[in-house]
Amino acid sequence: MLKPTDHSRRKFLLESLLLAAGLPACQADNVFTSAPTATSTPGTSPANSTVNTPLSTNNVHFLLRNDAEYAKHRQIFNKRITAMPKVIAVCSNEKGVQEAVAYASKTKLPITVKSGGHSFEGFSVMEGSLMVDMSGMNKPIYNKTSKLLTIQPGAKLGGVYEYLNRFGRLIPAGSCAGVGVAGLTLGGGYGFFARQFGLTCDSLQRVRMVDGKGQVHDSSNEPDLLWACKGGGNGNFGIITELEFKTHPAPPFFHSARFKYRNLSPEQATQLAERWFGLMPGLPKTAYSSWVLNGKHLTVLVTDTAPGTALNTILDKLKTGATEVTPLRKDAFLPGIQRFRGGTDPMYFKNVSAGYYTGFKDLKAMLPAICQKIANAKVNTILQINTLGGEISNPALEATAAYPHRTLAYLGELQTYYDKPAQTATAEQTVREIQGMLTKGGIRAHYRNYPDVEIPNWETAYYGKSYARLQTLKRKYDPDNLIRHPQSVRA
Ligand SMILES: Cc1cc2nc3c(=O)[nH]c(=O)nc-3n(C[C@H](O)[C@H](O)[C@H](O)COP(=O)(O)OP(=O)(O)OC[C@H]3O[C@@H](n4cnc5c(N)ncnc54)[C@H](O)[C@@H]3O)c2cc1C
Repeated sequence: MLKPTDHSRRKFLLESLLLAAGLPACQADNVFTSAPTATSTPGTSPANSTVNTPLSTNNVHFLLRNDAEYAKHRQIFNKRITAMPKVIAVCSNEKGVQEAVAYASKTKLPITVKSGGHSFEGFSVMEGSLMVDMSGMNKPIYNKTSKLLTIQPGAKLGGVYEYLNRFGRLIPAGSCAGVGVAGLTLGGGYGFFARQFGLTCDSLQRVRMVDGKGQVHDSSNEPDLLWACKGGGNGNFGIITELEFKTHPAPPFFHSARFKYRNLSPEQATQLAERWFGLMPGLPKTAYSSWVLNGKHLTVLVTDTAPGTALNTILDKLKTGATEVTPLRKDAFLPGIQRFRGGTDPMYFKNVSAGYYTGFKDLKAMLPAICQKIANAKVNTILQINTLGGEISNPALEATAAYPHRTLAYLGELQTYYDKPAQTATAEQTVREIQGMLTKGGIRAHYRNYPDVEIPNWETAYYGKSYARLQTLKRKYDPDNLIRHPQSVRA
């Protein structure tokens, strides 16, 4: 993977983002490691021990701030987040998670959970907390008879696709290789295959969880737990230690086309948005599309696993006005999706949900002003709108999952990327202003996996009518609110 030098980082980011048509740049670490990499000896304490210093065991290695391996385990994908946990518990197994919870309970340290470390707002790391690091628990097991995938939470999407491809199977997930399967699924999870097979969480069949009291639960016996983990399970009331998914046949080929429209005025960008929204109801269920405005330049990506005449009609119409067209290309499935796996290193960014939409009418009034703001922004700013709908909107799924946004067929994401910590305030202000325009324009529903710490009424924005039921589960599994982050469900 191309690795940027510091001075070429902005250019690299732009190119990498445009290749992925604005799909967030991400980490391509897609191997399954064999064990947690912290190396303290069982029964010993971390380097800077005090009276309350936790003792490492064969199940969990505790790290304090002065330990050599602390920085590596604290690292998350977003370099903007600088919070430092007091203790990191690097878990090898479920027993280790229980031991970490027992220690946090005894010392009254709040618990945050890290699997893939890709939370936009760094909800897996909190100042002064105990971070339960699940990244070393990342083993997949595919059962050829049942066609079920049993997987540990620290597995990353790139590795999951590679592993399942050996069996000709997939779970419908995002494209960025470094995203953790746990965080993605527990908040919903969408990607190229969601319109055909549903959200990632719709394929979830069972979970195991250690709750805030250190007790282990299996959702086979607790259907409410499975419901909650389908869109409402991110760091809210327990630590998921195992996930079981039904899998789907992987298609032999992955097709993608791309259209670029350069140097647009805000009005032109808005017109192209209206046209794109107008075409999307004809998009086949096997297809996905994104509308990605990066400064003054627009990229439209269209992918499909079984293209036919309906798709070709859309592609023909998208050609009008394009300054550059990459016609539909056909790749073998795995290399095809790997073209969109993104960058490799942690980066500075402030990305947030820009809301769900029913269609163009939800954005019409404010889009020209938002496009203007994006064009004038002092940091690299992107508005990406993704197609949802298809199987995600299947009414039969409504009661099965905490995810509350099934009727909304489009999801917006606002992204800002930059090079230096000194630009953080500018990036945050840019997002604040555009988010403010969206809120003022009536956008109320937001994606939990694209959190924004400043969003008003986040409880209903993320969880809608599911919030009250999630609170009931919080009271049951974590009444003392040991497991928490700035936007976790409150008892
Ligand atoms: C580059 C990039 C690309 C992305 N692409 C997509 C995409 O295509 N589709 C999509 O839907 N989303 C996408 N996302 C958003 C992604 O789904 C969320 O950021 C997700 O929560 C990340 O999960 P993680 O395990 O990597 O992160 P973490 O930071 O480890 O965790 C994220 C959240 O989940 C909770 N959590 C993690 N592990 C557990 C566990 N074992 N038990 C309980 N709670 C847990 C944490 O408390 C935290 O709140 C992307 C994000 C990035 C940064």
